[in-house]
Amino acid sequence: MAVERTLSIIKPDATRRNLTGRIITKFEEAGLRIVASRRTRLSTAQAELFYGVHRERPFFRSLVDFMTSGPVVVQVLEGENAIAKNREVMGATNPANAAPGTIRKEFAESIEANSVHGSDAPETAANEIRFFFSGLDIVG
Ligand code: GDP
Repeated sequence: MAVERTLSIIKPDATRRNLTGRIITKFEEAGLRIVASRRTRLSTAQAELFYGVHRERPFFRSLVDFMTSGPVVVQVLEGENAIAKNREVMGATNPANAAPGTIRKEFAESIEANSVHGSDAPETAANEIRFFFSGLDIVG
């Protein structure tokens, strides 16, 4: 298995409820290392660009409004098989379908306010990491 990096976002529903530490603990317990981290608030333009692939979806405007509604924590996670492992720790998009013990099962409020984002493939991981971090920000 290869060591990979993936982009994680702790979403505004989770920062609002002060869940940052509990979510980070889930990553670390799964063997993922936080190699870059920044708390920020997305602008509308940033959220639209980041979720550009969903532009034609009916929930796009609502998703952008939600993602700009409060602070987020953007992080680079590193570890063996990090992209798939992070998706596993996150759980299914809809918390109603998420497995027990996953972040979304334990913390998500809804299919939209689902507490975390995680890259879904190596190419998107590389692009999403580049979206938020320069190489100098990432210290493994
Ligand atoms: P993810 O990779 O599991 O985050 O899921 P997607 O890439 O399919 O969707 C991106 C994000 O859009 C999700 O994490 C949700 O925040 C939101 N989303 C997805 N599906 C829906 C939906 O049916 N309704 C609403 N309101 N938001 C959704």
